[in-house]
Amino acid sequence: MAAFNTIDGIPEPLLEIIDSLGFTSMSEIQEKAINPILDGADVLAQSKTGSGKTLAFGLPCVMRTNTNNYKPETIIITPTRELADQIAVELRRVAAYKANLKILTLYGGVPLRAQAESLAKGAHILIGTPGRIQDHLAKETLVLDSIKTLVLDEADRMLDMGFYDEIVKIGSNMPRGKQTLLFSATFPENIEKLAKALLN
Ligand code: ADP
Ligand code: MG
Repeated sequence: MAAFNTIDGIPEPLLEIIDSLGFTSMSEIQEKAINPILDGADVLAQSKTGSGKTLAFGLPCVMRTNTNNYKPETIIITPTRELADQIAVELRRVAAYKANLKILTLYGGVPLRAQAESLAKGAHILIGTPGRIQDHLAKETLVLDSIKTLVLDEADRMLDMGFYDEIVKIGSNMPRGKQTLLFSATFPENIEKLAKALLN
């Protein structure tokens, strides 16, 4: 198993944070996905629950964030608010070495207004559920023309919940040349269809 210092260009302060979390080596999915993601590849990844998918997509997204630009560069779409919160907690921990990096969650059950105000102030990484992301797009409180990386986490669950059309529609609001990362615990047939619609 590879050590985290085999990640291309990983800064020392980030290695220190990972060390302080007690993580000694990368999980298999992290080892396979992180360097290709940093290289700009689209990735379709399947690995079981608990295998470390959050940092597999999250570390490269955090590493590449340009904190001078306050327009969102990364959007992570996830099926539930609980999952969005979990991802936010995990990414904020590893992003602590980047003083100004702002991570914002967007999901239902919280007033749209408050989220819109936070969006207006600027954020680098957005984590949200399909319904609420669409609400913000419809109200034009969210603009996705600066997105460089789209992440679909738990894609299989989102398809089970009937979010196929929403996801494709949200994706159509982003630049064509963006990078797309699709992570899933299982690989049902409709995942392949979604991957064909979104990935290069
Ligand atoms: P998945 O999304 O694949 O279900 P998670 O990303 O939620 O898995 O990770 C599961 C747990 O493993 C989390 O508590 C996370 O902090 C921890 N973890 C992630 N990467 C590593 C690693 N390289 N070594 C040890 N623990 C890790
Ligand atoms: Mg996960």
